[in-house]
Amino acid sequence: MHSLATRTLHSGSPDQTCAVARRLGAHLRAGDVLLLHGDIGAGKTHFARCLIQSLLPSPEDVPSPTYTLVQIYPGPACEIWHADLYRLPGPNEVFELGLTDAFDTAICLIEWPDRLGDLAPSTALTVSLTPGAVSDARVLTLSWKSADWDARLKEALDG
Ligand code: ADP
Ligand code: MG
Repeated sequence: MHSLATRTLHSGSPDQTCAVARRLGAHLRAGDVLLLHGDIGAGKTHFARCLIQSLLPSPEDVPSPTYTLVQIYPGPACEIWHADLYRLPGPNEVFELGLTDAFDTAICLIEWPDRLGDLAPSTALTVSLTPGAVSDARVLTLSWKSADWDARLKEALDG
């Protein structure tokens, strides 16, 4: 662990956001948790969908888990969990959904991660999406404390 490190990326289109998601996805492994912050329409699901589809062995729809809360996909090396916790009834459901176990064993992409409270792993990578200057622009701010992300993000984004 180190102090909070951040990296800011600018996306000008859904495709550019997809490209970032794919690059990042190629460097993920079991036990990685991505906390996807941003208002409604920021692009959290779009980002997660691109990342998941880039890892799936065969093409599959990736619907928003708005109502199911969690969707689970078979990744090449481990499961990929896509969660939208906006409608989470309470903190206990984090355990009931099996999310706390999945944090250790799967790749987890979590929308509305503020609902996790204290249960958000300190090793997670935070991805915040905010609107840019024009309608299809987004600013992606990555932040992390785990030194484990330093080299991997460098490879994913600069390699
Ligand atoms: P959220 O899950 O954050 O509520 P969604 O991913 O469901 O948001 O929706 C984001 C919408 O914004 C999508 O329709 C997407 O095509 C659009 N969009 C426009 N520009 C971008 C961009 N640069 N990056 C991501 N999404 C974008
Ligand atoms: Mg969403």
